[in-house]
Amino acid sequence: MHKQGLLIVISGPSGAGKGTICQELIKKNQNICLSVSCTTRQPRTGEQHGVNYYFVSKLEFEEMIKNNKLLEYAKVYDNYYGTPIGYVEEKLNTGKDVILEIDIQGALQIKEKYPQGVLIFVVPPTLSTLRQRLADRKTDSQETINKRLNCVCQEMTNIAKYDYLVVNDEVEKALSQVEAILIAEKCRPSRF
Ligand code: 5GP
Repeated sequence: MHKQGLLIVISGPSGAGKGTICQELIKKNQNICLSVSCTTRQPRTGEQHGVNYYFVSKLEFEEMIKNNKLLEYAKVYDNYYGTPIGYVEEKLNTGKDVILEIDIQGALQIKEKYPQGVLIFVVPPTLSTLRQRLADRKTDSQETINKRLNCVCQEMTNIAKYDYLVVNDEVEKALSQVEAILIAEKCRPSRF
């Protein structure tokens, strides 16, 4: 019988560097898996079905909601995003840690269902760093970038609902902080 893995939620504004931190974590730790979400948004250049997201229609997404196939879901920037339940449960039950890179609405749903989940909020050091990172990615239009920046201040008001806050000014440092959080979480008496 395996000990249950950790359910780790990583949120933060687009451009905060969550994606890089998650990729580095799974590269360095074989026991950590990344959940692939479903979304109704269009793929960006270079994104692959089943790797970055499962790209589905609105109808397919609504079917998944109806059939309880999603652990959580939310509407973010006019599109649906959700976490398929099967993969997460299978991995946690075999002792693997699972990362969900999801927004605040989803994070709060997870906290309700899995109070033992670990919620980490990643922020950029400043708003202008964020604007620059989004522009450098060259994946979004100026309109989308402005929309995202407008949501950031609102997202920040929710930081206190998370268990940890990581400021990502240097990826290596932010990564070490997340790793330290995970080590500490595994030492909680309630997990033994
Ligand atoms: P993007 O379109 O930039 O890939 O993601 C937009 C936002 O949706 C990000 O904040 C991302 O973390 C969030 N997101 C991605 N997948 C999920 C999911 O499965 N559930 C929820 N609630 N949010 C998600």
